[in-house]
Amino acid sequence: MDRVEGAEDLVDALMKAVDGTYINVDPSSGDEDGPVATDRGDEGTKNKKKKKKKPKSKSKKSAATGVKPNEGRIPDETPAPPAETPEETARWEKDSVKGVPTMNLPAWGLLSDRTKDTLNIFRTPNCKTLELSTPRLKLRQVEVGDLTGIRRIKTEPIVQKTQLYGSPGISDIKENFLNRYIRSRDEFIFAITAIDPSAFKVQEPGSVRISNRIHNAEGYLGNIALSLTYPPDAPSFLPEKGQIYTQPTFQEFGKYKIEGKMFYEIHPQLWGQGIMSEAFEEVLRFGMEELGCDSIASDPTIGNDASIHLCTKNGLAFSHETNNVYNKPQLFHRITREEWWKRNRPGKEISDRWGGKEVCRWCMNFRLSPPNIRCKYCDWAKYCSRECQKADWLRAGGHQSECDPKT
Ligand SMILES: [Zn+2]
Ligand SMILES: [Zn+2]
Repeated sequence: MDRVEGAEDLVDALMKAVDGTYINVDPSSGDEDGPVATDRGDEGTKNKKKKKKKPKSKSKKSAATGVKPNEGRIPDETPAPPAETPEETARWEKDSVKGVPTMNLPAWGLLSDRTKDTLNIFRTPNCKTLELSTPRLKLRQVEVGDLTGIRRIKTEPIVQKTQLYGSPGISDIKENFLNRYIRSRDEFIFAITAIDPSAFKVQEPGSVRISNRIHNAEGYLGNIALSLTYPPDAPSFLPEKGQIYTQPTFQEFGKYKIEGKMFYEIHPQLWGQGIMSEAFEEVLRFGMEELGCDSIASDPTIGNDASIHLCTKNGLAFSHETNNVYNKPQLFHRITREEWWKRNRPGKEISDRWGGKEVCRWCMNFRLSPPNIRCKYCDWAKYCSRECQKADWLRAGGHQSECDPKT
């Protein structure tokens, strides 16, 4: 957590984790295809584990029985925190006065000890609260402490075989970190972790590099991201000056055909246990049922059969083939909102749980109760917490520069 050296590598690794150019998935999270890498030899892991597991269906069983609807659900809204005392109000308001110096995150050394305090101002408690869960997994926000876990996957040749990497420019990194990991309308990135690490079998390392081997399923196991693509004519859906910020609605996302794209990877010693399959299903649900994507896509490279199977199993149908600078053709798969709803919420109207509600203009966490911390100078900036207010006030180009005093 506190290590300094390697900070750039983490940023680099994080960037690559989400630069939108790779796909790698647990090779037997589907039901077919052979091992991609290490000793798989673990037939038993596929089907033993309890309820969420679907019956193994090599054949077209689903055609007869219909699709098993997704069992994930929208969580209840997080209640508002207790009201603050007048003393607390006074203390916080001292921090948010006109003229206090603003700051940026430095592009490099971003995660070193020197800049940790700054990072912690911007990455507020509620920036970190958005989590998803499945029967066996918790999908949480990526943390600085995930460095080692990220590296083990990123630098592993076995994993790289199924990936495509692009390299982000240095200038992108600062903004990207802030936008992607701290407050984002473009990308939702989750670290995959086990609720009970002992429930997973860590495979023999086989040819996995010694430095990349794991011995248990604790901590960061991989990641899964949903990246939103906005067409040029779409608004940013970010908070705007002078306006109370509200969660974009399904209707707006539909109007501009906002598409989500999934990216994911997992440590090779955990392949073969349906981990990615479980995570994929839940992130797909989140994108459809909570964000309201018009469609969601994934484009595994040719030959990545496990990943292709994951798409088709979840109703993403092949649409077309694309190429890239790496000359590795990708098979584009997609599912629309209507199709997802029909498969997973049979008989139910599409409904928009969060759209249109007021949300904190810093963390934009739409699962929280509507923000009730107000800027004392204007009447349109609202936050879920003082930490979020402070972050927006202290960020260069943030609220302090746009705030119009009430007249
Ligand atoms: Zn907030
Ligand atoms: Zn204001």
